Amino acid sequence: KKKTAIITGASSGLGLHTAKVLVKTGDWNVICAVRDKAKMEAMAQALEFPKGSYSIREVDLRSLTSVRKFCAGLTSPLGGAPGFDCVLGNAAVYYPMLKDPQKFRLGFHMAGAGALPVNRMGSEALVTEDGFEESVGVIHLSHFLMFNLLMDAVERHGRATKTKPRMIIVGSITHNPTELAGKIPPQANLGDCSGLFNGFKVEDGITMIDGGRFDGPKAYKDAKACNMLTIFEMHRRFSKAKNITFNTMYPGCIAETPLFRNHYPAFQKLFPAFQKYITGGYVSVEEAGERLASVCADPEYEKSGCYWSFKGGVRGANGAASEQNRNEKGIGGKFENRVSEEVADLELARLVWEGSALAVGLD
Ligand code: NDP
Repeated sequence: KKKTAIITGASSGLGLHTAKVLVKTGDWNVICAVRDKAKMEAMAQALEFPKGSYSIREVDLRSLTSVRKFCAGLTSPLGGAPGFDCVLGNAAVYYPMLKDPQKFRLGFHMAGAGALPVNRMGSEALVTEDGFEESVGVIHLSHFLMFNLLMDAVERHGRATKTKPRMIIVGSITHNPTELAGKIPPQANLGDCSGLFNGFKVEDGITMIDGGRFDGPKAYKDAKACNMLTIFEMHRRFSKAKNITFNTMYPGCIAETPLFRNHYPAFQKLFPAFQKYITGGYVSVEEAGERLASVCADPEYEKSGCYWSFKGGVRGANGAASEQNRNEKGIGGKFENRVSEEVADLELARLVWEGSALAVGLD
């Protein structure tokens, strides 16, 4: 019987290529959790996903109602998911140019390589349906709610199939100020999470988790730090009792995905070369998809509470991992990476958990 993976943001970039690797093994069914079903169908056809290997369900992470509806649909006895072997939180947005979430009108919403054009010119302010700043709302709060709502179904599935299912949220090296990508200001800093405890509503002037002044890149880094704090807290609270693997990972710098669609065009042009030839952190989206699919599926990633990263050796031609670092599947050597001081901080983990539960209305 095939296993089932649920992937948020499967309609582009890393999520799409992870889904592609899984469906092409023939062992996995992928539920593509996306905001645009037609785009997903077009992408699945373009990448030749085998018929019957995937289904598409709508979820807009800018709305907690949509997240709740999505989870209720997946776990319902009628028409729910056929299984819960892997839940992958991958979707994200990045607004490096955004100065104020409420004043955003004309943005640089360029399509990245391989993406369908996304035109948000003249769109409404980047505030979620629930009044949250969008980066933290989409990347962290919605996944926080979704993972909590799906966990019991994942546990039941594991017991019924005598397997250990996995729940994974994609992390980022940018959360860590001791790494180059995280060192460049602004750095992630969640402070005392007062923004969350005060309801995290843009209309109340709260746009950042630490309650500070809005900063687009920091909002992204903070949200990724929260993704990782959430996964490690879930590991500590539930992994043993529920027999679930909770992991995060950094795929490498996939410099050409639409994640950078809101950046200056010059940045979009130069960033891939910078990552390939200067930092060596570049990875192609295909290889990143292989990496993440392995974290979802392969026995060597069953251990819970890990932050997986990969030795790139990516200075070689076309940004491919150099031969000596590849394993038999062609993937650059994996290792358990170190997290930032903040992400290792147990008291902060408790604050993020409680503040997030409050903001999303979870008991
Ligand atoms: P993409 O922009 O290609 O993918 C992001 C996905 O999230 C898209 O499918 C997008 O949907 C989806 N998404 C955005 N907003 C919503 C929403 N409101 N509801 C539902 N889905 C939504 O970026 P990447 O593939 O690069 O990023 C994937 C993950 O990898 C992210 O978690 C990112 O933080 C992480 N990452 C990326 C790195 C990189 O270098 N690119 C490096 C490290 C981590 P749509 O297709 O409709 O736009």
